[in-house]
Amino acid sequence: MRKPLVAGNWKSNGSYAANQTLITDLMGPVGELGRVDVAICPPFVYLDQVAKLCHGGSIALGAQDVSDQDRGAYTGEVAADMLREMGCTYVIVGHSERRTLYGEDDTFTARKFAAARQHGLIPILCVGEQFWEREEGITESVVARQLDAVLALEGIEALAEAVIAYEPVWAIGTGKTATPQQAQAVHAFIRTRLEHQNPAVAQKIRIVYGGSVKADNAAELFTQPDIDGGLIGGASLKASDFLAICKAA
Ligand code: PEP
Repeated sequence: MRKPLVAGNWKSNGSYAANQTLITDLMGPVGELGRVDVAICPPFVYLDQVAKLCHGGSIALGAQDVSDQDRGAYTGEVAADMLREMGCTYVIVGHSERRTLYGEDDTFTARKFAAARQHGLIPILCVGEQFWEREEGITESVVARQLDAVLALEGIEALAEAVIAYEPVWAIGTGKTATPQQAQAVHAFIRTRLEHQNPAVAQKIRIVYGGSVKADNAAELFTQPDIDGGLIGGASLKASDFLAICKAA
């Protein structure tokens, strides 16, 4: 059985004081969960603080983005080995906000995925369709295209240790969650597509759902056979909500 993962994406939120309170409130209860992996992805500038607060506990650290390049003359970029040095286990790549607001395309995302892996980080690869793409009935081809860019560069074996986050863009931060059936259908599509190339990898990989997951809808989503946890934005900023979601996994 795949161990579920619940990862909190704080986006561009947090402060030293708020982070301290939030992590302190999460540490004890998360330590008692056991059967779920929990990660927090704060903004880069808070990674060191959160790493120290989480030290010795069972909350893993993740970053929200990574450079496609190694260290060097890349102003503003943060390289994968820097994230490793900060204590990161995970890194989100290809979040829809990076794709839509900052123009990051499939190929660029695939390069970030490769850089993360090369330095021992577990990439959380985000895929998902926009609302008009769902309306047009092209959800599967959009997700397949996003996935195939990584497969073309890295090969199927590279996904064995990775995580895929299916995040319909229309559900992110909008309060409109995909129904468990809608989410499960896309998760099953992804797993089946991988199965054609490597059944072992397809069975092993965790495919998590993201998009307005809340304490009151998490359990139904997580009971779907191909949903292996969640990537949580807004609800990861409040300890009681995030804990309820972790418990639901
Ligand atoms: C996200 O940022 O990945 C996300 C899923 O956000 P939210 O939970 O707020 O929709």
